[in-house]
Order: sequence, then structure tokens, then C-alpha cells
Amino acid sequence: MLALLRRHVTDERVIEAMAAVPRERFVLPEWHDRAYDDSALPIGGGQTISQPLIVALMLDAARITPTDRVLEVGTGSGYQAAVLSVLAREVVTVERIATLRARAEVVLRELGYTNVIVMQASDVLGWPEAAPYDVIIVAAGAPHIPRPLLDQLAPGGRLVVPVGDRRGQELMRATRTAHGIEIARLGACAFVPLIGKEAWETEAPP
Ligand code: SAH
Repeated sequence: MLALLRRHVTDERVIEAMAAVPRERFVLPEWHDRAYDDSALPIGGGQTISQPLIVALMLDAARITPTDRVLEVGTGSGYQAAVLSVLAREVVTVERIATLRARAEVVLRELGYTNVIVMQASDVLGWPEAAPYDVIIVAAGAPHIPRPLLDQLAPGGRLVVPVGDRRGQELMRATRTAHGIEIARLGACAFVPLIGKEAWETEAPP
């Protein structure tokens, strides 16, 4: 897994952080032997732990520094939150499925990632109470760049989000600059849908 990441990722801190986090602790027991394959795996509730290469590309694109405060939307297994906890000062992660939120919280606590707070998602995308954030990473696909998340971005902040339809998206980075929002397109990806008022209204197409 690390050899693959090294071919695509420029930020050495991302590689080191992913080398330090035991991914097998975040996958279901039946998938243990595939924990370091470069693939998304089911984690229950119809959701998946993201593919490692895509996690690495998102974190690379976000240019995270050790003093950054980070918001992750879509805790899922908690794996990416653990990697973020190594890279940043503080991580707030939100999840809408209560059973996933609870399990991620236990694993993160057992592994000693103390600078991560796991919150239950509300009707509002993200977690405005603790905004603004230097980095926002969205681990689910949105139909467009969600306005409420741009509003939670600090000056100079980076929002990394998959944007597209339900089956496939393009990874995008929106940076809040002195002149407005700057968009970079980072390539194709496929995520489970981001659910909410400013995203997809339902999990499956109506
Ligand atoms: N980062 C995760 C992968 C998450 S999969 C990991 O490392 O394992 C995407 C997750 O986003 C799913 O668990 C899904 O329930 C959650 N999700 C979807 N819409 C959401 C929303 N509006 N707020 C919070 N979580 C959301």
C-alpha cells in the first residue's frame, strides 16, 4: 500500500501518517486480510472505508500543516480521522449514521487519538459550531460544492470534496483566497453519496 502511495503523493507527512495508522483496526473482522489492499471495503450501513490511494490524494491536496484545525464530513470507520489526527492539531469529524459514529469513537479512543472529536451530524452540513476550519475534507460525493461548507472555511482554508453524480465524481479543491474561491480539479473518484439539504436528499435515487 505504501509503495503505491509513494508513486502518487508528494507530501511525505501524508505517507508517514498513513504508515502509522493501523487500517486493520478500522475494517470489519471479515475483511482483516484485505486491510492493506488499495480498495474501499464495506463497514456496515451500506457505507465503505475509502480506498487508501484516494484518502492519500485528498490529504495531499489539502496541504495540511501541524497547526491546522480540520473538519471531516463522513467519519465512517474513523480511519481517515485517525490519519488526520496525526497530521493536524485538532480534528472534528461528523457522521450521520449513529452506529458508525459510536464504533469510530471507540476505536479512535482505544488507539489513543485524543485530538479527534466525533460528532453526530445534524441537518446542517459540517459542524458550524466549531468553525472556521483551515481544512475541510468531505468523504462522500456531493452534487455540487456545498455552500454551507465554504462558509465554514477560514481565510486561506482548503475544502476537498468529490463533486459529480451518484455513481462517479471528480475530486475538487476549493481554496478561500483574498480574491474569492479558487477551484482546482484533481481527477476522478467514486464515493458514497453525501446526504443532506445542500447535497443528495436521499441515499438511493428516488
Ligand atoms: N472517511 C471514512 C469513509 C466514509 S464513507 C473512513 O475513513 O472510513 C462516507 C460517510 O459519510 C458514510 O459513513 C456516510 O454515512 C457519511 N455521510 C453521508 N452524508 C453525511 C453528512 N451529511 N454528514 C455526515 N456524514 C455523512
